[in-house]
Amino acid sequence: MSSISASSPACALLRQEVLDLHAYHVPDSSGYIKLDAMENPYLLPPALRGEIAEAVASAAINRYPDPGAASLKEKIRSLTGLPQGMDVLLGNGSDELIQLLAMAVNKPGATLLSVEPSFVMYRMIATFTGMRYTGVPLVTNSGTEIFSLDLPVTLAAIKRDQPALVFLAYPNNPTGNLFPADAVAQIIEASPGLVVVDEAYYAFASNSFIPQLARYPNLLVMRTFSKLGMAGLRLGFLAGSTAWLEQLEKLRLPYNVGVLPQLVAGKLLEHHEVLLRQAEQIKLDRTKLYSQLGEIAAVRVYPSEANFLLFRVANATAVFEGLKQRGVLIKNLSGGHPMLNDCLRVTVGMHAENEKFMAALRETITQLA
Ligand code: PMP
Repeated sequence: MSSISASSPACALLRQEVLDLHAYHVPDSSGYIKLDAMENPYLLPPALRGEIAEAVASAAINRYPDPGAASLKEKIRSLTGLPQGMDVLLGNGSDELIQLLAMAVNKPGATLLSVEPSFVMYRMIATFTGMRYTGVPLVTNSGTEIFSLDLPVTLAAIKRDQPALVFLAYPNNPTGNLFPADAVAQIIEASPGLVVVDEAYYAFASNSFIPQLARYPNLLVMRTFSKLGMAGLRLGFLAGSTAWLEQLEKLRLPYNVGVLPQLVAGKLLEHHEVLLRQAEQIKLDRTKLYSQLGEIAAVRVYPSEANFLLFRVANATAVFEGLKQRGVLIKNLSGGHPMLNDCLRVTVGMHAENEKFMAALRETITQLA
């Protein structure tokens, strides 16, 4: 902590874990081609925007929202095809649900386990809720198996640490790959606590654990609508058995999903096919971008089932800055985790944005050579 001296009152008052934390950093993106945050680049068709504008104009924002969000939840239940006996719990983004889960199981000494590198909020939330954290390293050392689960080591860590909560991002962020379903199943079976399969990127992936909910009593599936075109609404959900959700519901702050997000998300889900078509386009463009990146000798690109691609270069920070100078903002992962040294992550944008990114990348790499 640079701004707090050892003698300052904050230092005496705050928990050491909080003093040691670095806030989640969001860079200023104004003026850039924004390919840093896994957003859907597409706007909605004008007719649908008009329909939403009309609904928003007459929304009762002087009233608190429906606390149970009954209508929105019903739409989510039917769109996701939840098995019998399952329900959903809504969060102000899935980040909020990670925090809620950590608070629910955080008995003294309880452990949250995930793999590394993965979504940084698992570790961060474990830290600030005072949980123990175990990060099992992924393995990268064998030719085709990149950033794959080390199943024996993961199972051994589960046996040793008896985690109350396991998070597996499926597909994983920032590596983009989908772990083998049978390995995930073995982790669920071996876990004494809850296992949350985080399907933030489900719209771009080839598999889901929602159909498995009925099979595993300790499984919850978490999704967000952020990557599907609603990042600005802040809406995520946890799907699982009503027995779990009834308990977790007690920790949800009243009215955590506002009138406008409920209303707009509800409208968008009535037109779910529009968003899914956009996701299909993003998948096609991901394939194209993957092969274009693969054609550059100085780039190693990793396979992805998400709406972004991870790639490695000789000097990630110089490439990141070169891209920024050329008006393109991506994510520099170098320095975050040893396995991600010289790694960059680019979100798949619209065709023209991807072309601009590729041109800027080629120019930067040529200049640096
Ligand atoms: N899980 C994963 C794996 C993510 O990558 C993200 C966003 N980066 C989230 C959860 C959180 O998404 P949100 O809070 O926008 O719902």
